[in-house]
Amino acid sequence: MMADKIFRVNMTDLSVSIEDVPADWLGLGGRGLTSTIIAAEVPPTCHPLGKYNKLVFAPGLLSGTRAADSGRLSAGAKSPLTGTIKESNSGGTASQLLARMGIKALIIEGMPEKDIFYRLKVNTEGVSISEETALVGRGNFAVVDSLPDDVGVLSIGQAGENRMSAANISVMDPDGKLRSLGRGGLGAVMGSKKIKYIVIDPAGSPKTMPLVDEEKFKAAAKVFAKALHDHPVSGEALPEYGTNILINIVNEIGGLPTRNSRYGQFDGHDKISGEKMRELIDARGGKPRHGCHPGCVIQCSQVFVDKDGKYVTSGFEYESIWAMGAGCCIDDLDILAEADHLMDDMGIDTIETAVAIGVAMEAGVIDFGDGVGFLGLLREIQQATPQGRILGSGAAVVGKVYGQTRVPVVKGQAIPAYDPRSVKGIGITYCTSTMGADHTAGYTVATNILKCGGFVDPLQKEGQVELSRNLQIATAAVDSTGLCVFVAFAVLDNPDALPAVVEMINARFGSSLTVDDVTALGKSILKTERAFNQAAGFTVQDDRLPEFFEEPVSPHDAVWDFTGEEIDAFWDF
Ligand code: SF4
Repeated sequence: MMADKIFRVNMTDLSVSIEDVPADWLGLGGRGLTSTIIAAEVPPTCHPLGKYNKLVFAPGLLSGTRAADSGRLSAGAKSPLTGTIKESNSGGTASQLLARMGIKALIIEGMPEKDIFYRLKVNTEGVSISEETALVGRGNFAVVDSLPDDVGVLSIGQAGENRMSAANISVMDPDGKLRSLGRGGLGAVMGSKKIKYIVIDPAGSPKTMPLVDEEKFKAAAKVFAKALHDHPVSGEALPEYGTNILINIVNEIGGLPTRNSRYGQFDGHDKISGEKMRELIDARGGKPRHGCHPGCVIQCSQVFVDKDGKYVTSGFEYESIWAMGAGCCIDDLDILAEADHLMDDMGIDTIETAVAIGVAMEAGVIDFGDGVGFLGLLREIQQATPQGRILGSGAAVVGKVYGQTRVPVVKGQAIPAYDPRSVKGIGITYCTSTMGADHTAGYTVATNILKCGGFVDPLQKEGQVELSRNLQIATAAVDSTGLCVFVAFAVLDNPDALPAVVEMINARFGSSLTVDDVTALGKSILKTERAFNQAAGFTVQDDRLPEFFEEPVSPHDAVWDFTGEEIDAFWDF
């Protein structure tokens, strides 16, 4: 079996090297590898947009194989949004292509002296670097439309070019559309290195990864796919309604942050719900099921079309719909879809940007519920006007510029779609995640609301720290495999699922890992990331929610009532 390599690109002198994988990194992939490389090679106190920061892309350990849902790509850097270490992951075709090409990680370092943009072309032989002019200033759709469908593409839009802290990196999906390495401003890091896009050309690489034990892999992959299929969330709810099924569920339990986190329920929830969306998709001829990468058996993604049946957006997720919808009180799915398209095109995180606009609404910049005004502000971001640059810098900056105190962020990153007062486990995740507020880091909603892996009452404090800890450890490990976070439901409820994942890794590499080794890997990733953050200047005082969460939120009059000591116990492992 050909050994995987590290491809390293230096943008200061435009040089490229191909390196053997250091022994310590051989057992790592995805987030485990990006965080290990950033911790080893990036000075924690460096400027995130400066020459010492690095941008790392790494496929997961199972990416490129036939394991279901294993095509997620991790990207890592020091985040310009939070100042912490950052891993963001996404679907699209890039992860599977890089893995098949034997590229364990692509590391981009340095920055060019000249103020010009470049494009990188990665193939099995190495990386070529050329000046790019035609697509500079254009959106991500123009980039993917200019390239053939059989390559992988990583691209930035105008937000990344202008180094806005909420900028994301887009990844081309199997239909030539976009998925996003969404959170933490990694698009600004790519923009600072003056890279407009990266083409991944797999010519000459095998169709699937070579495996040490084909039969063992096949058997474990079958067990795993069945576990995903048999679970009511991954086998029924997500394929039927997509992630937006959550709008009505989270609204019902009073945890849907509404009007910039003032209330826990939104009057317009039915108009933006997964059920309503499915009705529109069916009536207009959209696509109710769609995978963000080949081999996804859950297919939670959907293709949303307008009244004339014309494509508007895909990857139109609960988090984005909540942030623009309930968060900003806009109850029109067509406006939300248009806004989602615009944000994909300019390459900016939908959660961060919509929460930032919610804070601007609080300050009176436009009214809550003003969908047309919302679209207007997005165009300001795309055009990089002074107002647009402020909004594109994220919710914390907007709060500061407008002197607001109701600014839902932790470590500078916007709080996502579950009110931490009414879903207390996710509040612990927001506080303690090494990434800033991030629901995917330890998705306690699975147990607090969906009752997967047992039940911990979302309104009580008991059991939340332990729940978040266990899930964050497991998630750090899962993020290293290339598996989608939505495999978690089956992993929590089906005792066959996790051993099957471990078996697939062993059959792929000839290793003899156990389930305990996977837990140990998750712990060690979290500790590596935390050590980076501490060296960057973060303390336990940064592991706190903003004080406005002491106010009761309807309908339960729930408050955030954890002491600092209780939160800090998260790290007792
Ligand atoms: S379940 Fe959804 S997010 Fe996960 S891999 Fe499939 S389409 Fe992508």
